[in-house]
Amino acid sequence: MGCLLIPDRVKESIYDLSPDALRSVGVRLVLCDLDNTLSPYEETLPSPRLTAWKEALEEAGVTLFVVSNSRKSHRCPDFCEALGVPYVRHAGKPGTKGFRAALARAGVSADQAVMVGDQIFTDILGANRAGIATVLVKPMAWGKNPGRLLRYAAETPFRLLGRRGGGHN
Ligand SMILES: [Mg+2]
Repeated sequence: MGCLLIPDRVKESIYDLSPDALRSVGVRLVLCDLDNTLSPYEETLPSPRLTAWKEALEEAGVTLFVVSNSRKSHRCPDFCEALGVPYVRHAGKPGTKGFRAALARAGVSADQAVMVGDQIFTDILGANRAGIATVLVKPMAWGKNPGRLLRYAAETPFRLLGRRGGGHN
């Protein structure tokens, strides 16, 4: 696995992950960050494109499961209920507890799961620690928070070390 900060794969977005390709390499569970991975922060409902991707995953026999650190009390439950997917909120990433809870609830082992997220120091670090394959995507939107730009700068070396393309596509 190497450095725990390096993602196994780097993609532009979740839509570069083909449900059939995931299933063909034995993936049964896609764990996914919410904010800036599945949806921009300010969008409270799933987009039609996201709904279609979730349905395509289901048809391929792959479960989508949100693992979120969101501190807003209604954000994660409201969004996930609208999308029709299970979730763990207050997941405590980069701790492994939220990941282990999601695997247990889905009844899937770590080697049949993949984690997709936009942040190295929470999504990628936590999933690597839990022994789950990792895919880093670009944040969907920058918003107005300059802290996000600073964090992205700090993440850049690890983004560049992740493998582009290949696998899970
Ligand atoms: Mg995020």
